[in-house]
Amino acid sequence: MPLSSWPNLLMPPGAMGWVMPQLAHITVMQVLLFAVVGLVIGSFLNVLIYRLPIMILSSDALTAPFNLHTPRSHCPTCQQALQWHALIPVFSYAIAKGRCRHCGAVISWRYPFIEIATSVLFTLCLLKFGWTAQAWMACFFAAALLALAWIDAETFLLPDVLTQALLWVGLIGSAMSLTPTPLMQALSGAVLGYSILWAVGWAFQTWSGKDGMGQGDLKLLAALGAWVGVWSLLPLLLLASVSGLIFGLVQKMRGQLGHNGYFAFGPFLALSGFACFFLGISMGV
Ligand SMILES: [Zn+2]
Repeated sequence: MPLSSWPNLLMPPGAMGWVMPQLAHITVMQVLLFAVVGLVIGSFLNVLIYRLPIMILSSDALTAPFNLHTPRSHCPTCQQALQWHALIPVFSYAIAKGRCRHCGAVISWRYPFIEIATSVLFTLCLLKFGWTAQAWMACFFAAALLALAWIDAETFLLPDVLTQALLWVGLIGSAMSLTPTPLMQALSGAVLGYSILWAVGWAFQTWSGKDGMGQGDLKLLAALGAWVGVWSLLPLLLLASVSGLIFGLVQKMRGQLGHNGYFAFGPFLALSGFACFFLGISMGV
């Protein structure tokens, strides 16, 4: 590696080749494509969000095989398998007015919400990065974060399969210039992301004698570091801590802080990570 490329790591990125919104070059068909693919991927995220925690928590206890495709998608109340037309994102929910066709049980609003949210995120990625491979990478980033945040909020789990995929795709994407973050910054971001939270967790444990930081949070911040780069780590942590603290205080005042005063930190890390990546927030700006 020529010496001249080293200062990358030492100097804050400044503009960092950040792509400006590409509105002028985007066609309606491209927006439609991203929106529809977002709906379909959102439907898949619903499967991940529902099934991954069950697969992790009860891998041995289940007698029947249970994975991402077995058993077929079914109503959680009456166990009736869903027909193909009931699997069409959003529309099937709207037509059935949010109820199961067989038993009439109310279907969680989560399903259409995740599908619409994914669709909106995908469209935003297209508007931000234009008709490029980078836009699809950003879509992957957004989808993985949405699934991780939701699973953590509901179950306090951050599945390794998702955080590891996020880390490796982030590093490889950086090496292939498919993310805006240069490789040296992505690598140091991943290492420092893990180390910072490890140190915070260690200090907290030594001081209070309690476990404060989940292992999943460390891995998630490492993965985020690979996407946003080392110079965005501190703003990311600051955003996540402040928003998490405000949320914790509000929940405490409302008397809704369950689980011995703990709440999931992953959603705040995920949201702040996406904000830093999408808006290009870093210490160089
Ligand atoms: Zn049913």
